[in-house]
Amino acid sequence: MLTFEIAKEETLSPKDIKELQEEIRSLARQKNAVILAHYYQRPEVQDIADFVGDSLELSRKASQTDADIILFCGVRFMCETAKILNPTKKVLHPNPESGCPMADMIRPEQVLKLKEQHPDGEVVAYVNTSADVKAVSDVCVTSANAIKVVQKLQSKKIIFIPDQALGNWVKKHVPDKEFVIWQGFCPPHFEFTAKELERLKQQFPDAKVAVHPECHPKVIEMADFVGSTSQIINYATTCDSDRVIVITEVGLKHTLIKKNPNKEYIFPQSMNYCGTVYCCTMKAITLPLVYKTLKEEINEVVLDEEIIAKARRPLERMLELS
Ligand code: SF4
Repeated sequence: MLTFEIAKEETLSPKDIKELQEEIRSLARQKNAVILAHYYQRPEVQDIADFVGDSLELSRKASQTDADIILFCGVRFMCETAKILNPTKKVLHPNPESGCPMADMIRPEQVLKLKEQHPDGEVVAYVNTSADVKAVSDVCVTSANAIKVVQKLQSKKIIFIPDQALGNWVKKHVPDKEFVIWQGFCPPHFEFTAKELERLKQQFPDAKVAVHPECHPKVIEMADFVGSTSQIINYATTCDSDRVIVITEVGLKHTLIKKNPNKEYIFPQSMNYCGTVYCCTMKAITLPLVYKTLKEEINEVVLDEEIIAKARRPLERMLELS
């Protein structure tokens, strides 16, 4: 008899994990559920997903699926995005406590105030925002398409929310526009220091460096390549170096090894908090929680219809422009 509902991830043996993964896949088949997982999820969670991807890829999958249930292994704003793009589906979130600290750094009333102060500007919201914030924004972007989408906008003034690092990186690539940038940040990426990267570069002088644009500008400056998680996967698995230092959330290592096991991927690992890139809220989704959520069909994402309608516009505009 399975007792996974109460099991903690850490207490699971490899045999338990395998059994639990099989149970989850079997439940997904019975219930016509699709399981989506972000690259930053735990490896054993990624392995039960129908699709593993970045925010943009998962948004597209969520909008296209004909499954009855979308079980989303990611943080809250991702589950909300799936619901907004496919509102007739039952979207389940294995851990409703799993939010994104950066998304919580801006509220809708603050966006409305920015609009008042800059009536000639367009609000460009990183998808890492709540549904309420999307509902008062003009267009969404992901780190994979932000430059392209901003370049295509008619407006000369961009109000970029909430990530200062991504905003500054886009600004650098779109110099003909004026930017007003909100000072939010992703704690795991932004707090990783240039000093730690310098230490890694000294340790592995032959390695190429791939960095996510949520990192601090000083870290971005030191990179051979800057891109979203999907773009980093392409670069790291195909570049001419056998060794790549990867500055993004450590969950990506699982996919990199699967795609190209012949290379060495160096992720920062240090006892110092600022020397590692680890997202605690992404890792708050565990196999036992996935199992319980799907089995009991609990933790459904519920959004107000008006918010869904309003938040859908900037998301659809992003999908069209990208
Ligand atoms: S990695 Fe950063 S942006 Fe992504 S969910 Fe975690 S805190 Fe949010």
